[in-house]
Amino acid sequence: MSSATGSTRKRDPSALHVCFWGVRGSIPTPGRATSRYGGNTSCVEIRSGDQILILDAGTGIRNLGSALRREFKSRPLQLTLLLTHTHWDHIQGFPFFQPAYQANNRIEVYGAQGTRHGLAKLLTSQMESPFFPVGLRDLPSSIVIKDLGNDTRSMGQLRVDSIRVNHPGHCVGFRLVSSRSSVGYFPDNELASKLKGHGRIRLPDLELEVFIRGLDVLIMDTQYSRREYPSHLGWGHGCMEDVVRLAGRAGVKHLVMFHHDPDHSDMALDGMLRRARRIAQAGHGSMKVSAAREGLTLKL
Ligand SMILES: [Zn+2]
Ligand SMILES: [Zn+2]
Repeated sequence: MSSATGSTRKRDPSALHVCFWGVRGSIPTPGRATSRYGGNTSCVEIRSGDQILILDAGTGIRNLGSALRREFKSRPLQLTLLLTHTHWDHIQGFPFFQPAYQANNRIEVYGAQGTRHGLAKLLTSQMESPFFPVGLRDLPSSIVIKDLGNDTRSMGQLRVDSIRVNHPGHCVGFRLVSSRSSVGYFPDNELASKLKGHGRIRLPDLELEVFIRGLDVLIMDTQYSRREYPSHLGWGHGCMEDVVRLAGRAGVKHLVMFHHDPDHSDMALDGMLRRARRIAQAGHGSMKVSAAREGLTLKL
């Protein structure tokens, strides 16, 4: 469980608040061409009451850390960080996360131990000399690394379900369910229907469809367009057009396109979003579609 007492922001305690801090896939892409959607890699903040959950620690987590510092000042924080996997774009921001440098903070990090070296070893190694000047164990906060373990666990007011996805190495997707709403988070996933014969299928599309059925918000990998996808077959990322159709079939209420390709400018993403909305309308009609951008907040 994570909690942070004394929040100064006005929030509805029974609602889920989702805030996007990093939306880019693969590598940070600062610059004028990406300034509207943002260039930081995967990081999403979820708040439920005074509970704070963080999904992935891409470079977006640095700005989240600064915002938490401004909000809570030196008051102690209890945070939960859920990692989908340990590719750079999902862990690289952690060494720059300010709350980790404050002695009275506690950070519980959950991830799959299914990797060959284990989560603790992987997180420690990215901060070892000569890669970084401060070791993970030297950080003043109390950092507890835990195995995600079973597919379902309860964290404070939320139920967190995880499922292994189609992505190189060990990678999972999450479903977070509160008493009133639900969010799915699949930053890296390739749909199985296209993958046949080109890679190992760990999550058949039908199983994914059941897992995401009826979600209020689904944040999902739509890195490539249908035109780009064939040259990236087996890379572990979604084809936007197929993801929109799958989410529509699953009765998702709001699809948020995520893990934008580093080569996609703001204009390119505007175009993808327009196409995605047309597909959604042509299908079942009622699903809302957005493209994630830094600073976007949703209240459920
Ligand atoms: Zn990624
Ligand atoms: Zn990855």
